[in-house]
Amino acid sequence: MSQINSKSRLFPKWVVFQFTNSDNPNKHKQLDFQKVDEIIDITIKHNPHYELFIDNSSDIALVAKAVKKINSYDCRTEVVCSGLFDFEKLQLLLNAHPYQLWFEISFLTTHPCNVPCQIQLYLDLLFHCRQLMKGSDIYDTKIGLSLWVNGLTYNYIFDIISSLKDIIDIYSIEFQRFLSNKKWLEYCSLVNQEFNSHVKMTRELVVDLKGNNNIDFTKLEDEICKSKAFCLNHNIAFFIRPKTINSNNYKSYFNGEWENMSDKKRSCIYPYILLEINKYGQVSLCHNFFDYAVGNIWKNDVLDIFFNDCAINIRNYTKKKIMPNCVACSRYYD
Ligand code: SF4
Repeated sequence: MSQINSKSRLFPKWVVFQFTNSDNPNKHKQLDFQKVDEIIDITIKHNPHYELFIDNSSDIALVAKAVKKINSYDCRTEVVCSGLFDFEKLQLLLNAHPYQLWFEISFLTTHPCNVPCQIQLYLDLLFHCRQLMKGSDIYDTKIGLSLWVNGLTYNYIFDIISSLKDIIDIYSIEFQRFLSNKKWLEYCSLVNQEFNSHVKMTRELVVDLKGNNNIDFTKLEDEICKSKAFCLNHNIAFFIRPKTINSNNYKSYFNGEWENMSDKKRSCIYPYILLEINKYGQVSLCHNFFDYAVGNIWKNDVLDIFFNDCAINIRNYTKKKIMPNCVACSRYYD
């Protein structure tokens, strides 16, 4: 390892753990605390920023333990909760003191009639979270809301944000990730030709573009403008990707005409700084490349994986060009 380190100044600046394991029938392959503990021990000396993703309240105890360990080294952790959680479990998470606690709203699989009711459930959860923190010095965690813009949510953005005044410290507005079938085929061919591998998982990002037909782009622009102004007026941090707030830009995005968009990258730094580990132990250098995992933590040392030939291949490629599936990534629109 010292040999690798002397050759390279690269180290992971972000370490992401996907604790999302509810659909994994292979118990022994679940991301367990012993492995997480080991990876924290190896990476912590590089002072990275940790992100822990959960979609199941039964993992909260494990995540809370990881947060406490990371805090004991004076490093920062963000916990991202996807889905609704039991109120009692929230306290456990807050007691662990993550630097930021994020809640994600996307509703992609929700029936349109159920969206208002689902929104109310999220608002209740967020109000409850703030209630737990009130009047207590120990709860200094920042509460974030990540709102995914799609045909189901775009009409509610300002309503959600304006009703959460004094509840949320930071917003991240991201557009629903998706790939057209054409982009997916381009990506498959690239993975096969450049990296001699096969695509297995990204297919879930392929959606029928007709599903976005109902979006009124002028209304969407208005929702975003009002929300941004509201956050500015109330000193609430507000991040949005794509950055250019414009109905035509949004139309290009949801019509899959990515080449017409105002915000796009030619290369990407993330494969140099990111280490992401999913529920199967697969390591990738960005959240869109699990099809081309650079290694598996059950078989190899995590830093050996970060510097292996597969990882170098990806970096060499993304230094010059982005991948076809990068259009389904909010970081592409920074
Ligand atoms: S832009 Fe591409 S390389 Fe960069 S993080 Fe997104 S998917 Fe990964």
